[in-house]
Amino acid sequence: MKRIDLEREDLVRVWRHDFPILDTRPNGKPLVYLDNAATTQKPYRVIEAEADYYRNTNSNVHRGVHWLAERATEAYERSRATVAKFIHAADTSEIIFVRGTTEAINLVAHSFARPRLQPGDEIVISAIEHHSNIVPWQLACEQTGATLKVVPVDDTGTLDVRAFEDLLSPRTKLVALAHVSNALGTINPIKRLIDIAHKHGIPVLLDGAQAIAHVPVDVRSLDCDFYAFSGHKLYGPTGIGVLYGKAKWLGTMPPWQGGGDMIRTVSFEKTTYNELPWKFEAGTPNIAGAIALAAAIDYIGSLGFGAIEACEHALLEHATDELQRVDGVRLIGTAAEKSGILSFVVDGIHAHDVGSILSDAGVAVRAGHHCAMPAMARFNVPATVRASLALYNTHEEIDALVKGLARVKELFGS
Ligand SMILES: *Cc1c(COP(=O)(O)O)cnc(C)c1O
Repeated sequence: MKRIDLEREDLVRVWRHDFPILDTRPNGKPLVYLDNAATTQKPYRVIEAEADYYRNTNSNVHRGVHWLAERATEAYERSRATVAKFIHAADTSEIIFVRGTTEAINLVAHSFARPRLQPGDEIVISAIEHHSNIVPWQLACEQTGATLKVVPVDDTGTLDVRAFEDLLSPRTKLVALAHVSNALGTINPIKRLIDIAHKHGIPVLLDGAQAIAHVPVDVRSLDCDFYAFSGHKLYGPTGIGVLYGKAKWLGTMPPWQGGGDMIRTVSFEKTTYNELPWKFEAGTPNIAGAIALAAAIDYIGSLGFGAIEACEHALLEHATDELQRVDGVRLIGTAAEKSGILSFVVDGIHAHDVGSILSDAGVAVRAGHHCAMPAMARFNVPATVRASLALYNTHEEIDALVKGLARVKELFGS
């Protein structure tokens, strides 16, 4: 290893101590957790924030007049401010707490797209989207007579920008694209794509689930109209996520779910709605989750995105080199701009078999279609093995993966 890599590895070794689960030993072997695109592990700070909330603050928000309720409301709203600052939103009213990326996209499909879609209108997505950024649009299209248009990718998994521009038409009502592909790791040239769409007057939603923990996001400089992400892929808890939307859109959108908290007044004749962002937060929210998500954001801030990106990038290069050197391994997704995701197939051995042999060796990867069946179809494979990196992964863990693959080939005699 080069000296600079060694220094990075020292940093990563320190970071690892923040994650208690990394000390577990499946089958007596050190856990090598390379399934971070499915969900990330949680640092003490996040686990403590959630427990501390229930120990010291638990109460419902926006209702009670008592001391605890005020304290809970303050903590919940402070978390919203932390999120707004993290993604550089102009105002906290543009941050809606939801269950995750899936719910965020469904909210936009329901309250933004559906009322605007006429028969013959179009929504543009790409060939490498997560099902969460396909199916909500298909539902909206079914209900309105609109159609879905798909931007192709080339053999490396790079989106075809020329084809993207050609697909846009006066009938295009929305563009919805992954910031980073969860199946291949491709980082899309989102600034360019947004500028092109806006030139045609078309709003853009970004599915940021796979980007948010790995690259800094600035919704204002990107000028995206919506940005969706999940807390659990950002070292935060499950069940909490964020929809960012420009106030000018959110203000015109009808509520999605009805219930408590999203109203101002209710009568049987007429109900009036609360202001933003609460108009979109019906019912008791995941208060502890929002607070723990803010703790995750603070944690990342304490490490610094620059350092995280540098470590993950160096590890991705190392892992790419190592995997390409293994006989019979073919990487799927080799775009020039990539995040730490290595999707691959092994000649003659099913991805699930590879995954379970690796699991016996303590190496956790994902094997399957990664909720992106059309992306698999594009590359003519039913499934891939996916190793996905996070800030706590080391060169040794990549070596363990490669060693595990040697064992797979031994067992399957290829
Ligand atoms: C994980 C993921 C989603 C879905 O996130 P949920 O937390 O399951 O709602 C959507 N898009 C991408 C790119 C993802 O990686």
